[in-house]
Amino acid sequence: MDGPAGSGKSSVAKEAARRLGFGYLDTGAVYRALAWHVLAHEADTSDAAAVLDASGDFDWTISLDPDAFWVRVGETDVTDAIREQRVSDAVSGVARVPAVRQAVNTAFRALAAGTDRPGIVIEGRDITTVVAPDAPVRILLTAAPEVRAARRSKELADLDAVTVATALHRRDASDSQVVDFLSAAPGVEVVDSTALDLEQTVQAVLALTSRVNA
Ligand code: C5P
Repeated sequence: MDGPAGSGKSSVAKEAARRLGFGYLDTGAVYRALAWHVLAHEADTSDAAAVLDASGDFDWTISLDPDAFWVRVGETDVTDAIREQRVSDAVSGVARVPAVRQAVNTAFRALAAGTDRPGIVIEGRDITTVVAPDAPVRILLTAAPEVRAARRSKELADLDAVTVATALHRRDASDSQVVDFLSAAPGVEVVDSTALDLEQTVQAVLALTSRVNA
């Protein structure tokens, strides 16, 4: 499942995984963990060479359990820290380095292949096109930009709505130079969550899944 920030991707992917009894892989969390790691090195996240250098000792682990989600860098639990605005602002910079993308994509495929559950829901920006183009169900979850900004601003209650909207649109613009996650590749199903609540969106996703499993 791919989609832009604020499309509801994480909540929907996690809940769909729970109901299907599947694993859950949040690939954005890994890019965020790398951004956290590069910031911890006090390196410049917009400098590809510095990012590559800092990524040399990027040792990460991630939970695939939708009921117990965590991300670690080395021994440090960064589950909450990676949601900080400073990390959100830095993540596009690290995610645009091709060698970084190749390394994490290889790890994502290995994690997906190694799951002991009957399937896995993977969410990100390039899952339907690059990481798992042969997945039995591929979904692009979209929502109108103003709805996405409003959702994100609700999650980040300590920041004002204009700041949140500006940061979100800036990140989308930067991310979409690297991966096209705003239009669906051939064979990818679009679910537009603009007018749907969480339950309705989960139902739309499960309906697509059951069609394939039937
Ligand atoms: O999904 P989330 O908003 O947490 O993703 C954080 C960032 O990670 C994105 O803004 C993007 O820069 C990067 N990302 C990516 N490819 C993915 C998932 C996330 O480039 N598959």
